[in-house]
Amino acid sequence: MKIQMVDLKGQYEKIKYEIDNAILNCINTSQFIKGPVVAEFQEELERYLGVKYVITCGNGTDALQIALMALDLQPGDEVIIPAFTYAATAEVIGLLRLTPVLVDINKDSFNIDIKSVENAITPKTKAIIPVHLFGQGADMESLLKIAEEKNIFIVEDAAQAIGASYIFSNGDRKRLGTIGAIGCTSFFPSKNLGCYGDGGALMTNDPLLAEKIRSIANHGQQIQYIHDIIGVNSRLDAIQAGILLPKLARLDEYNKARIVAADYYDENLKAIEDIIVPFRLENSTHVFHQYTIKVKNGSRDKLKDFLKSKGIPSMIYYPKPLHHQSAYMNIINIKSELEYSENIPKEVLSLPIHTELDSIQQDFIINAIKEFFHK
Ligand SMILES: *Cc1c(COP(=O)(O)O)cnc(C)c1O
Repeated sequence: MKIQMVDLKGQYEKIKYEIDNAILNCINTSQFIKGPVVAEFQEELERYLGVKYVITCGNGTDALQIALMALDLQPGDEVIIPAFTYAATAEVIGLLRLTPVLVDINKDSFNIDIKSVENAITPKTKAIIPVHLFGQGADMESLLKIAEEKNIFIVEDAAQAIGASYIFSNGDRKRLGTIGAIGCTSFFPSKNLGCYGDGGALMTNDPLLAEKIRSIANHGQQIQYIHDIIGVNSRLDAIQAGILLPKLARLDEYNKARIVAADYYDENLKAIEDIIVPFRLENSTHVFHQYTIKVKNGSRDKLKDFLKSKGIPSMIYYPKPLHHQSAYMNIINIKSELEYSENIPKEVLSLPIHTELDSIQQDFIINAIKEFFHK
């Protein structure tokens, strides 16, 4: 049995006609950069997310960088981020000569810990980047409260959580990525909404920020050849926008397939003592970009090897927290203990999850895990 972490080919085969047509249309019109298809995708994503402005760009990392540039942060300003995340979050902060302030994560949700955020705030804190890790939302209600009180911007890293919703205590629901001052996402092929190359987007409800983001992503110009600010060149190809349109129309269906697979894993793995299945928050839906278990008693690596011997792939997201990465060692600021960011990387294991995973494949994976634990 062939089991993959993600099955992009299998997904493509079901929508081949639409994807092939989108690509051919783009070649026939030969409008490769900007143009009507990119505009249509932006509008469709605005509608889907319920946000006023979506501005597409080259990738998710660019989206984060453009967001920080749009907020006019100055060298030395502090940006609070979780220590356990993908490196892109810290990287763009460093590139802009800002100071990444690392805080701990919550041991259950893997997301930024609010108490640690509160303890890390100084007069220099200008922004917080919560990462909605693995597809489930950070505690946005608490973060918004902090942001408002202290005049700090929230930039959401929603690269893994497109389509998930946050539920406020008054019952209001908003899509992740549309709640902070700016939201960022990625259309990297394996993301929940992935294209066939690189792509990304920024989301905001603020018209002035939207205008600024659009200008920064386009060499700092609003009128061609008139450059008002220093920008970057970062855009989504028309071919990628054409590919994303039919996939966006199916995003809820795709996320549902991931949730069904996650529920099935939960049901079958939760009885195993040495495994902790993903924690489900009440104030956020989970779109399972990753299905990440914690493996106790130091048996994670042995389980990974055992699965590999059966032809089952698994991944460690992420093996090394940011405070142990030599690239950032000299620029990071740590104000309190990073207990969970330190220990959780030794326990996490992400199992195959994607839109094409079926119960036969899942049974094979589950039985292998049970066999390992002699259940
Ligand atoms: C994928 C990802 C990014 C970067 O997106 P790219 O499109 O690969 O640049 C940033 N943050 C998180 C949490 C991601 O998962």
